[in-house]
Amino acid sequence: MAENTIARKLAVNGIVQGVGFRPFVYNLANRHNLKGQVANTSSGVVIHIEGLADNIDGFAADLTAKHPPLAYIVEISHQQAPVNSYTEFRIVKSKSDSAISTLISPDVSVCDDCRREMFDPNDRRCHYPFINCTNCGPRYTIIDDIPYDRPKTSMKHFKMCLQCQAEYDDPANRRFHAQPNACAVCGPHVHLYDKQHKSVETDDPIGKTARLLKEGRVVAIKGLGGFHLAVDAQNDTAVKALRTRKHREEKPLALMSYDLACIQKYAEITVDEQKLLTSIQRPIVLLPKKEPNSISPDVSPRNRYFGVMLPYTPLHYLLLEHGFTALVMTSGNLSEEPIAIDNGDAFVRLADIADYFLIHNRDIYLRSDDSIVRRVAGDTRLIRRSRGYVPIPVFLKKDLPPVLACGGELKNTICITKGRMAFISQHIGDLENLSTHEFFQLTVRHMQRILGVEPEIVAYDMHPDYLSSRWAAAQQDVEKISVQHHHAHIVSAMAENKIEGDVIGLSFDGTGYGIDHRVWGGEILIADEKEFTRAAHLDDVPMPGSAAAIKQPWRMALSYLQAAFGDDLWNLKLPLFKELEADNIKIILEMIRKNLNSPQTSSLGRLFDGVAAIVGLRMHVAFEGQAAMELEMAADQATDEIYEYEWRQDDRIKILTQPIIRSVVNDVVSGVKLPVVSARFHHTLIRLFCDLCGKLRRSSGLNRVVLSGGVFQNAILLTGLHQTLEEKNFEVYTHKLVPTNDGGISLGQAVVAAAKATQ
Ligand code: ZN
Ligand code: ZN
Ligand code: FE
Repeated sequence: MAENTIARKLAVNGIVQGVGFRPFVYNLANRHNLKGQVANTSSGVVIHIEGLADNIDGFAADLTAKHPPLAYIVEISHQQAPVNSYTEFRIVKSKSDSAISTLISPDVSVCDDCRREMFDPNDRRCHYPFINCTNCGPRYTIIDDIPYDRPKTSMKHFKMCLQCQAEYDDPANRRFHAQPNACAVCGPHVHLYDKQHKSVETDDPIGKTARLLKEGRVVAIKGLGGFHLAVDAQNDTAVKALRTRKHREEKPLALMSYDLACIQKYAEITVDEQKLLTSIQRPIVLLPKKEPNSISPDVSPRNRYFGVMLPYTPLHYLLLEHGFTALVMTSGNLSEEPIAIDNGDAFVRLADIADYFLIHNRDIYLRSDDSIVRRVAGDTRLIRRSRGYVPIPVFLKKDLPPVLACGGELKNTICITKGRMAFISQHIGDLENLSTHEFFQLTVRHMQRILGVEPEIVAYDMHPDYLSSRWAAAQQDVEKISVQHHHAHIVSAMAENKIEGDVIGLSFDGTGYGIDHRVWGGEILIADEKEFTRAAHLDDVPMPGSAAAIKQPWRMALSYLQAAFGDDLWNLKLPLFKELEADNIKIILEMIRKNLNSPQTSSLGRLFDGVAAIVGLRMHVAFEGQAAMELEMAADQATDEIYEYEWRQDDRIKILTQPIIRSVVNDVVSGVKLPVVSARFHHTLIRLFCDLCGKLRRSSGLNRVVLSGGVFQNAILLTGLHQTLEEKNFEVYTHKLVPTNDGGISLGQAVVAAAKATQ
């Protein structure tokens, strides 16, 4: 040992487990001629390194500059250490201790190296559907506890064969310490069953599945984060059968194609979208349809877009290789229940939907739906943030106490904070049934365990009837803080943009419980991360029938028409009056007049619904936001005229809906085409809100505008408002890391609760 040998201890934090980090360290240490050891501990990767000071400095520099593709380094701490006179550099077995702070990688798509091997007839893993390496494969969904090592994953049931073990032990191999490493000899297998749970005898279950799909069968396929239901997307009858059996009437179905060339047959792809499609996250990307195309019209009815993804598991590649333009790959569930992940559960729950089941014996510990993204206004917007993205944290401006935020009711996610990091869960779903509520509780427990967090604060939505709020209220020995829904939306966008202090917040969605117990949803707030005031909102109108008015936009139409025209509404020559029975109309108007089951709402989502019904586009909806979405799709891109608009200054500003409704009606009865009416309506809102921001800037001195809420999934509104506000020199902040819909509010709840608790 040289006389000037020194030793240092480096602790690396971030996503450094299960991503080939220790082998990388091992190779790096050897390259810099250093001895010592590296270990995965519950507090991160800890490196003890010995050698010449210059070599150690070179090693430390390379550590941050050259790390493996899946690694994400948050910080590296350096400490002097005693020289132990190591004779080599080695990787030691994982340790566990109480200070758990390592991050786990998301599940990512199969890498190019593994794909090449899988299609190489000379490779021992040729056509093996579970091929993976340190740079690819399952992670988050197969982990039960940390540290991330094989015995803590669902791979613990598979003992590696000698060849796999040799790869796993060889630092020069790209499967060195790849925890899910396996082959056909020692690893998981696929198996095909019919719906009676009888095994289908075949030596090629995937090839047989492809033939069944071509015959028009519905096959339940176990994937990475749960089951999919698959049919041939070009087969009308099969697509219709799937919709009927799944009770999914109108919502678009996701597609999967083998490669970009297949997708280009039926959809337009920009360079940015191509990058998203081929990224290791492999999200579903919303792409404009090419017309005409050979995809069944029932895949995405009355929609200008397809939701498309590329294969992300080896199994998907082996299946799609059989010459499909596209497969429908929709989540394996009945209506709004969580997707099935367990084989036994799938056979029961999907029995009336699937004709066959292609299953495997690698357990999924935590379900994770496919993520959905769309490029809007020059950025990628997450509509659903789940597989591929979770559990990467959102990094905050400052440290927070440990908070558990319970999210909202629809598109629920939870959020757990740990220091400067906010971990938002995978998509949990609509908390309206028992199984989703159970999944919510399971996710809370699971995330607390793998993050090692004991929450001191529980944040929840003000709505007293939300299941998540009731669950929060029942928690003990924690500080419980309720957060207003639209405030949470705004602070969510502030948090991901790392901004603090007062902003003008435009919080637009369908429904959220207001502090006056009314239904809010068209709110302009002056807010910081702790408090807000309601500066402006849409003037309240009744929602006749409450929840029924959400499912039946014609009820909202009558409400707005009543407000705008009073009894004269009967004289209007609108398509609405031809489609509906006069008696039904009378009943609803009576409900409004007598204030029967007609809560007041200031929701912008409902205004979209009402206008969609007035123009004759949609009287009923099958899913939330459908009418608004179709109104957006109908808009003529070339029109930018606007209607008159007006607001009233009371104790706060109330935006009047009557002038807009009168103009829409005027256009419809005088025969103006739907695309023009829709475009005028959108541009009116853009101009109106931009004007209001100007007024609020003059009175408050604030120049930062934050846009959040489900209505901003509307690309015309988001793009138009963003652009118009920037032209007026506002600083505009929007969502890029978390969804603008209710999938993002858990983040805002956590930050608001932390701000309130530390007062
Ligand atoms: Zn790989
Ligand atoms: Zn093996
Ligand atoms: Fe919302």
